[in-house]
Amino acid sequence: MHDPDCLFCKIIAGQIPSRKVYEDDQVFAFHDIHPGAPIHFLMLPKKHIASMAQVQPGDAGVLGHMLTLAPRLAQEQGCNPYPEGGFRVVINTGNEGGQEIHHLHMHVMGGPRPWLKG
Ligand code: ADP
Repeated sequence: MHDPDCLFCKIIAGQIPSRKVYEDDQVFAFHDIHPGAPIHFLMLPKKHIASMAQVQPGDAGVLGHMLTLAPRLAQEQGCNPYPEGGFRVVINTGNEGGQEIHHLHMHVMGGPRPWLKG
């Protein structure tokens, strides 16, 4: 399910270049173009889901897959192991939630502080 007007669908399809971190049949991950942390990549379902607010019960599998992949990919990208190391996972949802690109995506951010406040 590809939305021809969606920037992230175009990245998944290879129509717009990205620095790929990981891909399988369900998810695609690539480095954020404006990193907010020393390690900052985005993970998204290949299926076009506009936001967390549009998630359906049938999407539970891909969302669980993304959550279970995050620690592995974070460590592969250089995050130190838990508990001294770690990472932050954020899913901005809707305009008031700070979502700018309306294809559900998980920010995975980590690396040595002081990038993280609070
Ligand atoms: P916000 O910009 O407030 O974080 P989102 O949660 O929608 O809003 O995140 C969109 C993210 O996509 C931003 O972090 C932005 O830097 C990133 N981004 C936008 N265009 C590209 C691109 N072509 N390649 C990689 N990352 C991108």
